[in-house]
Amino acid sequence: MNLTTPPAKPLTADVILIGAGIMSATLGVLLKELDPSLTIAIYERLDAVAAESSDAWNNAGTGHSAFCELNYTPELPDGSIEISKADKIAEQFELSKQFWASLVQEGSLPEPGAFIHSIPHMSFVWGAANVEYLRKRYQALLGSPLFRGMEFSEDPALIAQWVPLVMDGRNPSEPVAATRMAIGTDVNFGTLTRSLFDHLRQQPGVTFELNQEIEDFRRKPDGLWRVKIRDRATSKSRKARTRFVFIGAGGGSLTLLEKSGIPEAHGFGGFPVSGQWLKCVNPQVIAEHDAKVYGKAAVGSPPMSVPHLDTRQINGQRELLFGPYAGFSTKFLKKGSYADLFRSIELGNIRPLLYAGARNIPLTKYLIGQVLQTPEQRIAALREYCPEARPEDWQLEVAGQRVQVIKKDKKKGGVLEFGTEVVTASDGSIAALLGASPGASTAVSIMLDLVQRCFPEHAASPEWQAVFHRLVPSFGQPLASNPALTASVRAHSAEVLKLA
Ligand SMILES: Cc1cc2nc3c(=O)[nH]c(=O)nc-3n(C[C@H](O)[C@H](O)[C@H](O)COP(=O)(O)OP(=O)(O)OC[C@H]3O[C@@H](n4cnc5c(N)ncnc54)[C@H](O)[C@@H]3O)c2cc1C
Repeated sequence: MNLTTPPAKPLTADVILIGAGIMSATLGVLLKELDPSLTIAIYERLDAVAAESSDAWNNAGTGHSAFCELNYTPELPDGSIEISKADKIAEQFELSKQFWASLVQEGSLPEPGAFIHSIPHMSFVWGAANVEYLRKRYQALLGSPLFRGMEFSEDPALIAQWVPLVMDGRNPSEPVAATRMAIGTDVNFGTLTRSLFDHLRQQPGVTFELNQEIEDFRRKPDGLWRVKIRDRATSKSRKARTRFVFIGAGGGSLTLLEKSGIPEAHGFGGFPVSGQWLKCVNPQVIAEHDAKVYGKAAVGSPPMSVPHLDTRQINGQRELLFGPYAGFSTKFLKKGSYADLFRSIELGNIRPLLYAGARNIPLTKYLIGQVLQTPEQRIAALREYCPEARPEDWQLEVAGQRVQVIKKDKKKGGVLEFGTEVVTASDGSIAALLGASPGASTAVSIMLDLVQRCFPEHAASPEWQAVFHRLVPSFGQPLASNPALTASVRAHSAEVLKLA
């Protein structure tokens, strides 16, 4: 996709970003850094920025680095631990930190304490088999420079020093183990998104409109996109013309991608997963915990329902959350419609949907079971992590909505995926982000890839390469095999972002 050829007809903007979440914010800022002359129009259907998944209360705020998330280090049939995914995710988060650090240094992002904090990332398990797994995982990760500094303990007294809430009242005869990475982070993706948009809106050539819902697209014979926008306050519609569209509509992306009519969109479907948290309302209990503690997912549960007991920093306040309790809802957005799932079904994806649905009946049953949990059952799940939890200290909150990707598959008809998928047109003129995991933490890496896929000629130019390297000093170099580079970029990001 070429951004510089003069268009046959006047453009509303060179680039249209749909949705005011972390993904559009990251792409917009990156594109403006790469080419300050670009014009960008941003449309958001709600009356606020970052009000869906990117809001701090709608996600867990974990700076996903695979320090504590056990689903990124599966045990193979031969008993060994696979760490390549963990390396990849840890590396992607280092790219995010470098990008944010560069923006802080150039004054484009505010004081980093507004959006990122150090918090130890811990994995905690009980039972002999799980203890053995965690020990092997720890030994496997020690070989990677990205996990340097990880501590491991099977000593209940030491674990109690790290996380007293997790150990108080626990059966002393039960074997337990924990790992701890002091350099884990908690990120307020809502504040970060709002800060990125505040910066973007001040740039010349950028327009930003709330309450504007994108309803349809058409690619015109001249290669430009015509986008139909409805003002939700007046119900009036208008059209905008652009060279490049990014569908960063979170759970709404699938339906919009289908409307684009590009052949690459064929066969994608969505599987919505809702979420709930228990939020601690007792300041004394909140003050006693200082970590993000991830456990093992229950058998049959999806990876995103791994329970965790999380210290959070939200809007200057220390908080404590437990969850998420995943559930099933037919909505694709928290502020969406119960008809979303049904509206997304079309001829092109009905086969993958049916096949993936048939293969995932146990998962659907599990999610429905989670929705139907009683308050007592929720507290029982919490007590596995916090044995002395009292129901009166915890309050139920609704988390954000995820839409997992269903893809057509030659052999299986359709498969359910738990990662993210960037779908682009062959000419790079439109791109959509589907899925939600590992999510906001990897927004920078996702957008660096997207830019290189959609604008390959510009991306290869010395000018754009220089910007990539300025913003992300380790750009293009693997970290997992380079201890010196890992240590130096990590130290620099930690210094600028005021992290441990
Ligand atoms: C329960 C839960 C826990 C999570 N925990 C973590 C975590 O710990 N760490 C992590 O890194 N990630 C986490 N994530 C994932 C992370 O929140 C998402 O990956 C990320 O916020 C997605 O950002 P986005 O910009 O794509 O979408 P969103 O933030 O959802 O933004 C999309 C925007 O598009 C707007 N929109 C939708 N349709 C239209 C339309 N037609 N026209 C105009 N605007 C539209 C929406 O209103 C919304 O504002 C979690 C997610 C959930 C749900």
